[in-house]
Order: sequence, then C-alpha cells, then structure tokens
Amino acid sequence: MRLDKFLAEQTGLTRSQANKALRQSAVQINGEIEKSGARKVSNTDEILFDGERLEWLDGKQYFMLNKPQGFVCSHDDGDYPTIYQFFDYPLAGKLHSAGRLDVDTTGLVLLTDDGQWSHRITSPKHHCEKTYLVTLADPVESNYQQACADGILLRGEREPTTPAVLEILDDYNVNLTISEGRYHQVKRMFAALGNKVVALHRWRVGNIVLDEDLPEGEFRALTEQEIAESVND
Ligand code: URA
Repeated sequence: MRLDKFLAEQTGLTRSQANKALRQSAVQINGEIEKSGARKVSNTDEILFDGERLEWLDGKQYFMLNKPQGFVCSHDDGDYPTIYQFFDYPLAGKLHSAGRLDVDTTGLVLLTDDGQWSHRITSPKHHCEKTYLVTLADPVESNYQQACADGILLRGEREPTTPAVLEILDDYNVNLTISEGRYHQVKRMFAALGNKVVALHRWRVGNIVLDEDLPEGEFRALTEQEIAESVND
C-alpha cells in the first residue's frame, strides 16, 4: 500500500494532510525519515508518526461507549470536548458514531469505522429501535402512552413520529423506545406533550444493551454476535 494512503487510513488525516506531514519529516519507516507518500509499505514495516508507532489495524472495528454528560459526538466542537478523546490516537480519527446523542444526554453510543453498518443503524428504513430512560420535570400523564403509540406531531414538522412505546416506571421516569432518529426527538416529543426532559440516558440500540458495569467514559469492543444482530435487514 502507498504510505500516504496508509497514513490517512490509520490517522484520519486526509491524504494531502498526510503528505504535508511527510514533507515536515513527521514519519519514519524502520528508523529512517521518509518524505514520499508514494513509498510502498507493508505490515512488516515499523512506521512512526510524530514518534508514535502506527499499528496495522486490519478489519473493521466496533465499540460501545458509555457517554458522560458534557461531551459532543462530533469530531470537532469549539465549546465542548468530544467523545473521541476517550479513544487513543490513531484509532480516534478512524471512528464515527452510529447516531449522535446531545451534549447533555448520557449512555450508549456505538462507534465504528464501518460506514455500511452504521448506515443500517441510523437509516430510518431499517427501523432500528433505541430505548431511552427519560426523567421528566412534571409527572407523567395518563394520555402519554397512547400519544406515543399514535405518533406525535413535533413542532415545525409535517409528519407525526412513528409509533413509539412508552413504559411508565414511576411518576417522573419512563422508558421510551423509538425507531427514528429525528433531531432532539425525545426532548421534542415530551415538549409537544407539555412536559420537559430533565435527564436522558440511552441504554439500548437494536439488540445492543449498554453494559451496566461499564463506567462513564469507558468503551469496549462489541462481540461478533452484537455486530451481526444489531439491526434488522
Ligand atoms: N433525543 C433527544 O432529544 N436527545 C438525544 O440525545 C437523543 C434523542
């Protein structure tokens, strides 16, 4: 493989950024500085980028992260730290999240470098269910369950939400299962019902359930079974 392609794949840099780094002598191969992106490399070469060894990451990668509050799911944000800081370089640059949580939402985020897989999780066509534990400012009202099942017209939209399942846990806490991913959907659904979400925690996506003992800010690789069974075809 060409060196610039390898660098882009392993670090998340674009090819032109990788070539710039090469010209700035940031890359060593087997102890020698290499400046040409056209150089062919293989997994027998030891490649250092800014002094750090790049591993040959073969195959696709899949993780669950327990997201804490105060982190965004984008790679760059001027205001908040991003969830990618929980991953080591160069892995962080390769991953993207399969769907995003708001900065103040906690819980299950799936991350991968497999675009087809994440598309199946997020595309409305696949109706992948997500379950949230929702804490409300005001007590749950008796009409909520039926309203969620019937679909709720969100402010500024033309189509009501698709049927959602509401499980009442106590006066202020519910589990809500939705199979779409509209912008701020859960908060807007409860706003339309005249209530307010004060805490939101996602604990299930498809068949993948957040490990109860996974501390906030930590991640683990998904199992083969979780990867295979996470979405309906
Ligand atoms: N719905 C929301 O309102 N926020 C989230 O983070 C996820 C779903």
